[in-house]
Amino acid sequence: MGTSYHITLRQPGEEWTEVALKEALDQRLQAFNQLASTYIPDSELNRLNKAPVGEGHPVMPMLFDIMVLATEVSWLSNGAFDITVAPLVDLWGFGPAKHDGKPSDAAVAEALARVGFDQIELDLLDKKVLKRKDLRIDLSAIAKGYGVDVVALWLESLGTKDYLVEIGGEMRVAGLSPRGDQWRIGVENPDVANSDTIPIRLGNIGVATSGDYRNYFEEEGVRYSHTIDPTSGRPITHNLASVTVLDASCGFADAMATAFSVMGGDKTLKLAEQLQIPVYIIEKGEAGFVRRYSSAFAPYLEQEN
Ligand code: ADP
Repeated sequence: MGTSYHITLRQPGEEWTEVALKEALDQRLQAFNQLASTYIPDSELNRLNKAPVGEGHPVMPMLFDIMVLATEVSWLSNGAFDITVAPLVDLWGFGPAKHDGKPSDAAVAEALARVGFDQIELDLLDKKVLKRKDLRIDLSAIAKGYGVDVVALWLESLGTKDYLVEIGGEMRVAGLSPRGDQWRIGVENPDVANSDTIPIRLGNIGVATSGDYRNYFEEEGVRYSHTIDPTSGRPITHNLASVTVLDASCGFADAMATAFSVMGGDKTLKLAEQLQIPVYIIEKGEAGFVRRYSSAFAPYLEQEN
């Protein structure tokens, strides 16, 4: 996934040395990449991308499960999350090809015509995926979170009750921390003037953060994020600096964090109230950064003394 991982166990099982645990984990993560990466030419995902249009293509159950989750988030967010945005990601220079200036309106329209999660049919019985048109599926915005779930569930299957699993900033915690109390993590703060993290306390839950401050380019004073609004075909330019989502499924939280980034602050809080999703957002206001959160997030915030 082009990133690092980090695992903390409260009481490493006796059967594990650190080296053996790392080896077993690396194997699992490699198998996951073989499934969902677009960088591995013969990955399960790339085989689906190369499969003929209009025919049901059988995929492995885990890839199918990711596609179902991604589609759920697409519908919930009214298309703000879309795993077929790759042509636009490339066009704006965030893909493997380098950026060479702002694309023309015609080029945006042409790329938009090759995007549309609703052009994917999922056959739930036979676990087949049918593309109604030539689409390129890219799971970058959900894979890290889903990978966290895969590792967490594997640790649980070995009887591990207390853990923190983190892949590229998305994480999931369970049970107690090595200090013997609830896990306490800090939400990253994009405000350089006040870089303290925002402390939250967690039980068994996944945490995902999307932020425009890590990955963007600037042209004529406008900051273009690597998150694309699939409706306009353009990178988001609004003032939402960071979105943190909590959910039992880290994959869901990861995808929702991207969807919320596209939707912007007001729509995010409205949908989060409707669906009772814990969300914390940081926006750039005229007089500095403004923080807002949904009512479902409040119980997780540590009281500031
Ligand atoms: P962040 O941590 O900022 O959310 P991620 O690495 O999780 O970033 O996801 C960013 C990637 O997701 C982009 O590089 C692009 O490939 C893809 N992407 C961009 N816009 C969307 C979108 N609207 N829906 C789904 N995936 C997207």
